[in-house]
This record gives sequence, structure tokens and C-alpha cells, in this order.
Amino acid sequence: MKIKSAEFVISNSEVSKCPDSKLPEYAFIGRSNVGKSSLINMLTERKSLAKTSGRPGKTQLINHFLINESWHLVDLPGYGYAKVSKSAKKTFQRFITAYFEKREQMLCAFVLIDSRHKPQTIDMEFMQWLGEHGVPFCIIFTKTDKLKPKALERNIESYKAEMLQTWTEMPPYFVTSSTTGMGRESVLDYIDSLNEQFLPQ
Ligand code: GDP
Repeated sequence: MKIKSAEFVISNSEVSKCPDSKLPEYAFIGRSNVGKSSLINMLTERKSLAKTSGRPGKTQLINHFLINESWHLVDLPGYGYAKVSKSAKKTFQRFITAYFEKREQMLCAFVLIDSRHKPQTIDMEFMQWLGEHGVPFCIIFTKTDKLKPKALERNIESYKAEMLQTWTEMPPYFVTSSTTGMGRESVLDYIDSLNEQFLPQ
């Protein structure tokens, strides 16, 4: 897919105020600092569509971007940042939960996982929650340029093994680097294929 246009639409913390449109949309979510802003900028070939984080955990909003005037890319807040207060975490949980429960045009949540790290409980629990609520999701492994090919392969294999402890199959996954652009076409092609199948209610 060629990105012809990418523009910011709206930020808010209430699902009811998300764009009133039936366009298909895709959510990007993960732990703070996982490389989400960099990935969004890489996918859209824009230098600073999503701001890269000076202060992780700061942008606690649902951010909608309109891509090619035909689908929405949604930048959701990073989770699991230790310095965010308990009440901020609760608020986060409330509106993220509402977002996934109510936003029917959300066709796939891309859960970002730092390819360098061992499986983390917070990510596993989040994916479990998505599964229990029937939310379709994929995994995007980030920052893969930081690993040697063998180490990367090993990490992905052990991630799969961990997932298969609780899941009957591995969800679709993508191996990416915002530095090299690796995985860009695969993610965009996947979005393209879902867009083509999408028939608004
Ligand atoms: P966010 O908090 O999830 O939005 O993460 P950012 O996109 O702000 O990235 C956090 C840090 O990781 C920044 O210093 C980025 O430059 C770095 N980073 C993000 N993606 C990559 C990547 O693919 N490769 C490398 N080498 N660094 C990355």
C-alpha cells in the first residue's frame, strides 16, 4: 500500500468523541517506550505524525489519524509505565476498555512487543483480555535491528512458545524495525487486505 495522505484528526479520552465514521480502523498499543511512535512514523513515512516520546506515559489519549482518506490509524496510550499514578492507570483502563468494547470498526489491534525482551506479564495479560473480549489482534515485534539475526530468531521462537502455553495458535505477527523499515510492507499489506474485506454495517 502506498501512503498518499496521513493526517491527524482528533485526540480524546472518550470513545464517544472518536470520529463519527464507519471507516475501518487499526489500533496500535504497547508498553511505553516499545517504539510505537517510531513505528507509526515509519509506516506512514512521516517524520513526526506520532510524536516520539520525550516523556513516556505522557500522552494518555486516543489519537486518530486518517490515512489515504480511507482508514483510521489509532495511536493508543502506552501502558505499564511505572511513574503513572494509580488513578491515571484506572482512567487508562476505563477508556481503553471502552474503546475496544464499543469501536466496532476496529478491525485489528496491533500489540507492540520489544523483540529484545522476554515475554512480560503485562503484555500477556493484555492479550488475554483482548482474546476474552473477542478483539482481533496481531503482534508487532519492534526494534529488531538491535538484535543479531540468530538472537532475534531465538527470541521470537521463545515468544511463540510462551504464547502457545495459553493460546491454541500464535496470532499473526510481524517482525519490524523503524530504523531499517523492515516489516513495513507486510503490515501495510495486512491492513490493505482487511480493508478490502470490510463491509460497513
Ligand atoms: P513509544 O514510547 O512506544 O512511542 O516509543 P518511541 O517510538 O518514542 O521509541 C522509544 C525509543 O526507542 C526512542 O529512543 C526510539 O528512537 C527508539 N526506537 C524505536 N523504534 C526503534 C527501532 O526500530 N530501532 C531502534 N534502533 N530504535 C528504536
